[in-house]
Amino acid sequence: MSCDSCKSLCWNWSVAYRGGMSGSGTPSTHDHQHAHERHHEHEHEHEHGHGHGHRRTMQRHCEVAVIGGSAAGLAAGLQLARQRRSVVVVDDVTPRNAPAEHMHGYLGREGASPAELVAIGREEVRSYGGEVLTGRVLGARRLEDGSFRLDLSGGHTLVARRVVAATGVTDELPEIEGLAEQWGRGVVHCPFCHGYEVRDQRLVMIVAQPLGLHAAPVWRHLSDRLTVVLHTDLGPDVERDSIAPLEAEVLAADAVLVGSRFRARAHVLADLGVEPTDHPSGAGDFVQVDPMTGETAVPGVYAAGNLTDPSLQVLPAAAHGSRVGAMVAFSLASEDLRTAARDSVRTSGQRHDWEQRYAGEDRMWSANPNGTLVQEVAGLTPGRALDVGAGEGADALWLAEQGWRTTATDISQNALDHVAAEAVRRGLDVTCLQADAVVAGAFGDEPYDLVSLQYGSFHRSPDRTGVRNLLGAVAPGGTLLVVAHDLAPMREPVDVAEQTRMFDPDAYVGVEEIAVAVKDDDAWEVEVLETRPRPPGAASSHHVDDVVLRARRLA
Ligand SMILES: Cc1cc2nc3c(=O)[nH]c(=O)nc-3n(C[C@H](O)[C@H](O)[C@H](O)COP(=O)(O)OP(=O)(O)OC[C@H]3O[C@@H](n4cnc5c(N)ncnc54)[C@H](O)[C@@H]3O)c2cc1C
Repeated sequence: MSCDSCKSLCWNWSVAYRGGMSGSGTPSTHDHQHAHERHHEHEHEHEHGHGHGHRRTMQRHCEVAVIGGSAAGLAAGLQLARQRRSVVVVDDVTPRNAPAEHMHGYLGREGASPAELVAIGREEVRSYGGEVLTGRVLGARRLEDGSFRLDLSGGHTLVARRVVAATGVTDELPEIEGLAEQWGRGVVHCPFCHGYEVRDQRLVMIVAQPLGLHAAPVWRHLSDRLTVVLHTDLGPDVERDSIAPLEAEVLAADAVLVGSRFRARAHVLADLGVEPTDHPSGAGDFVQVDPMTGETAVPGVYAAGNLTDPSLQVLPAAAHGSRVGAMVAFSLASEDLRTAARDSVRTSGQRHDWEQRYAGEDRMWSANPNGTLVQEVAGLTPGRALDVGAGEGADALWLAEQGWRTTATDISQNALDHVAAEAVRRGLDVTCLQADAVVAGAFGDEPYDLVSLQYGSFHRSPDRTGVRNLLGAVAPGGTLLVVAHDLAPMREPVDVAEQTRMFDPDAYVGVEEIAVAVKDDDAWEVEVLETRPRPPGAASSHHVDDVVLRARRLA
């Protein structure tokens, strides 16, 4: 299995360069280290704006792409990740309620901050291997095979079988000085979100559209110090019997109430043929969906949350996302069943992603083994070795050359075909095992004297099946060697208008999780656990560190 941060991030994601071809060669001439270095260079260049004009773009494949990772999008993502669907949520971190410090009316999380709910939701999606990418979707279109291609900031693309749009709405306020600055704090719109907090206070309601009056009775119930100000002529439909001309020029208020006009954030769906329609209230627009499934008029494109109903608070928006996620799961499963007879081997979304990357004839990596592997294995007596996430097998082939009886395992059969061909060419004996590391019993029953995971990782699962597989593959007295990138740079903030992070390290099993598992287990002794500079030989214009874990199984 080769779901690793390095390989995920670095290389053959339909590599293209903006601003001309890099003079430093193509990915096929680089080994893992080079590729990873190059990735980080790219990220570094982009974020800090001092690159050389060469920006690598990536294409990823998943089963469901979710646009928008707030309440509705994350709820949909959670359902789908739990259905073992490869799901990628892209979020540009601009949820509707961002200006508010607290979120009210959400059963179970009453009073939490909006950011806290999103953080919890992200973690829940990731705990099942769903990825949440910080970035922006710029547009989407249907491909000839019926799948969808999303264009992301930074020039990257995401190909998916289904799209769920949960992009919410934008609130437009009447043009009154100071209103926007106080939005979500001194200026509020929803009696259910903020009414209790301003009860009995001096409330001034500014009505700028007919719908603006509809909450007046509820506000009046919450405070008898309510003044309603008609900002614009609302036309003949408004009863004027109880309206008195305002005599004061200045009204003192503890809170200002104003109803916004809402605009569906649907422009990213325009090329797919999904257009917003006017809301019956006259207060804005929204995306119409099938009330049962959440599917838009365009098959395969779903929408959830405020985008489809701007009146939904966070809890019902999440509930809607959850429902739509389930409906997408039904749709995919039905399609899979229909096509099962045609496709004799049905592959998981994750595997499909990797098979795509290794589909080409060209070699992606050079034959160089990872320098840290070479260093760490030097003192060990060759026995049985398992190279997890072998990719095209540079490490596995090197181990075989050193006398290890080596098994190369990867989620991608295409990758292993490259390994097998190269082993034949070099006259080496390498066993190839196609396996998904997160499936129970992935590596069989025979333990190994060395289990090596080089820049490899696999998606998380709450029951930590992948970690147990990894540790369980090591024979008593054997060694586990994990080399991973120091991912701290990957967690730095990104300018979403310029760049989308194409890899979510928190959706993968990290070296930290593996280290905790061995430290907590008396049957293991940790020999090395440190962050150190990448061994010489890697091409890098800036400093990159590795995290190295070497542990020995005692019993
Ligand atoms: C000031 C204010 C305070 C509120 N307070 C409360 C409250 O206390 N309690 C309550 O229940 N409700 C509250 N609400 C309502 C609440 O904001 C909505 O119910 C909720 O945000 C709807 O969730 P959603 O997921 O549908 O949309 P949103 O939360 O708006 O999320 C949409 C997501 O899509 C992302 N996105 C949009 N376009 C793109 C793109 N092109 N690419 C990538 N990502 C994209 C955004 O970053 C965002 O994270 C409040 C609303 C406002 C305006």
